[in-house]
Amino acid sequence: MGVSTVSPSYRTPTTIVVSEENGGEDGGGAVEDFEDTAMKPVLDNGWRQDPFRWIADGREHISVSFTWQLPALREELANQSLYYGRPIVGGPAVRLLPQYLADVAEVSLADYPGGVLHRMNPQATRTTVGCPNRCEFCGVHRLEGEFRELDDWPAARVICDSNLLAASMPHFERVVHRLRGIVGVDFQGIDAGLLRVEHARLFAKLDCSIRLAFDTAARESALLRAVARLRAAGLPRKRMRVYVLIGWQDAPEEAAERLSLCYYGLGILPTPMRYVPLDSLSRHWVGPGWTDEELTAMQRYWSNLCAVRGVSYWQWREYHRAGVYGENGGEDDRAMDIA
Ligand code: SF4
Repeated sequence: MGVSTVSPSYRTPTTIVVSEENGGEDGGGAVEDFEDTAMKPVLDNGWRQDPFRWIADGREHISVSFTWQLPALREELANQSLYYGRPIVGGPAVRLLPQYLADVAEVSLADYPGGVLHRMNPQATRTTVGCPNRCEFCGVHRLEGEFRELDDWPAARVICDSNLLAASMPHFERVVHRLRGIVGVDFQGIDAGLLRVEHARLFAKLDCSIRLAFDTAARESALLRAVARLRAAGLPRKRMRVYVLIGWQDAPEEAAERLSLCYYGLGILPTPMRYVPLDSLSRHWVGPGWTDEELTAMQRYWSNLCAVRGVSYWQWREYHRAGVYGENGGEDDRAMDIA
């Protein structure tokens, strides 16, 4: 869901044993031992760089997450030598724009072909697929189909379900039970509006962090209620994060207010998520009322709180424009440690 700002670190290829028993979905799938021949470095947070590539059966495979990554990949494929033959391309971006690479690669529209998620991050899994909601800005319903619970999944610590809390309570209890004893569980997509007291109590039994979403101002009361429930269950604020959608049917002032509410009002670090239409070939898409500069500045400010602490976003932006911070804008290029 997000774009990491951390620097890549490199590690030698390893053999990863993936336990999958559900025939092809990323949470489950057939048991598979594969030589990890990924050709890109691993980021500090455990995810491999995107687009993600690997070699299997003498063919190059490339999974692409975002449509704005397609033009550069297309240019690269059009010019590359075909040592491994035409690569097989897939992933969310290819499924959203299947024709875009059709003349330079073999396009696969398979449903999350076996184990891509594990290859991208061996610590990641999913226990459900899909989401019953159809938020206008989101492609999950197009990419993942009907919401369903998986029968089995690896006990990995990064839970990437699109909407875990849409699952039944027995399923959620099984997920929590399987994660007991694992350190640093990371729940990536928690729907604040569905978070019940029972969920909060079960989350609090784990060594975990929770990533909530705050997509529009209309979701404020749901967010406040979810945070209150998690706090009452004993989960500290530092174990919560909030993804804040910016640039979609909002104004800069309203987005800045939602971000400030998270940090200054709730004491929880927000991550601004810039809206890009599902079929956009540029990550710099700009909606009405915004400028590219404003969207970029808002993302920078909230990624560099250690450098700007004590200065409000609007003050910082004015100082930045006036050159008060010097050439690098006073920013610390490291992603802030929010643990
Ligand atoms: S709740 Fe989340 S996953 Fe579901 S449609 Fe909305 S944004 Fe997408």
